[in-house]
Amino acid sequence: MDSLTLPNQAGPAARGTGQRDLTVSAAASLRRHDPELDGLLEQEFRRQQDTLAMVAYASLADPSVLACGASVLANVTAEGYPGARYHPGCRWLDQVEELAVRRTRAVFGARYANVQPHSCSQANLSVLFALMRPGDTVLGLALDAGGHLTHGAPASVVGDYFHAVGYGVGEDGRIDYGQLRRLAHRYRPKVVIAGASAYPRALDYERFRAVADEVGAYLLADISHIAGLVAAGVHPSPIDLAHITTLSTYKQLGGPRGGLILSGAECDTPGPDGVRTLAQLMQRAVFPRSQGTLNAAGIAAKARALALVARPEFRDLAERIVGDARALAEELTRRGHRVLTGGTDTHMVLVDTTPLGLSGAAAERALEECGILANRNRIPNDTRSPRITSGLRFGTNILAQRGLGPQDMGECADLVHQVLTATEPAGGAGHRLDPVVRDRVRRAVHRLCRRHPLPGYTAEPAA
Ligand SMILES: *Cc1c(COP(=O)(O)O)cnc(C)c1O
Repeated sequence: MDSLTLPNQAGPAARGTGQRDLTVSAAASLRRHDPELDGLLEQEFRRQQDTLAMVAYASLADPSVLACGASVLANVTAEGYPGARYHPGCRWLDQVEELAVRRTRAVFGARYANVQPHSCSQANLSVLFALMRPGDTVLGLALDAGGHLTHGAPASVVGDYFHAVGYGVGEDGRIDYGQLRRLAHRYRPKVVIAGASAYPRALDYERFRAVADEVGAYLLADISHIAGLVAAGVHPSPIDLAHITTLSTYKQLGGPRGGLILSGAECDTPGPDGVRTLAQLMQRAVFPRSQGTLNAAGIAAKARALALVARPEFRDLAERIVGDARALAEELTRRGHRVLTGGTDTHMVLVDTTPLGLSGAAAERALEECGILANRNRIPNDTRSPRITSGLRFGTNILAQRGLGPQDMGECADLVHQVLTATEPAGGAGHRLDPVVRDRVRRAVHRLCRRHPLPGYTAEPAA
């Protein structure tokens, strides 16, 4: 028997100093010994409770996910993979990482999963630097059309090291697949990226794959924003169509900060060197090529979040997220707002603020004054800078998590509408909001938030 496993000794654990008691006593200790920091965390808790977060880029982590992030695994330093570490003391971490990998593969129906990326940006960089050489061409959705920095924007290292070509959207705001194909034939990319940060419609992964195949490119699907919908089966899955899929674990999975790299049917396909498979390449792409030590507590938190995603309740949540977004788009349209593409297939609703005479920045700030969060976002053919913009991006992940359904979206749209129609531009990103409307909406937001508290965050302390 392993000498490290001592059976049930009546030692420290019996005196209540095990990992389980740590989180509770640690919170009390922080409160007692660092009231300044503790006070800030408490304020942040209240802000989250009393703010109507109508944002697309976040979800709430279940408190059990937060507990994993604050666990003793945070003390573990390790490089490498389970069974092949470069540090001692990884016995339990190995099992946690294997659990996270198993759960990830099961949730997404993937054959390969890497749970170590510190973020989706990091995941994308790892993938692109594994599949391409500096100077090779990557074809991704242009930033202005809703793409992500790491899909080839000049401001990203991707735009610096690779020849980045961007496809865009047509007059109707939807991806111009004809242009995608023409650009692919003209520039012969090594990698085509299907994915977006600000695009409300489902992606046609079969079309993307057909284009990639025509020019011999690898297809990378970045489902950062829609990972929850994909996991729940309410958005088409790219796992077996793309060569590689990447995602963030916090945006829609209720997980910790972090990323994942997945591969399905193509995981044994040879990489560009013709020797290693894509799965083998991805293992090296993360460690040692682009990351050092892993985030052990974060990997535990990913494992916990994926267990929650695997439950049938998560599918109900995903359906509510999409139902809410459709209803929100309709209710905003009914009040005269210009919703891009005329609606949504996802959790995201994009609104052009130009008809209101407002920049995205002014609209964002006016809403925040009233306790409503939605972020400024560039829209196709935007004439304003990325800091100012002409659009607002809404999302329904957190509304749905708080239990708000499609029948509540009229109320949410109405609050937004009241604020935006009582706001005037005041030079640059400045704005002036009618104080009477502001106070009325603030109170209404507060009441709505109290009726729909953050789920799991308000449990009475155990007696
Ligand atoms: C947010 C986002 C990322 C980056 O994710 P991080 O985890 O914040 O690095 C990558 N791709 C897309 C499409 C995104 O929307």
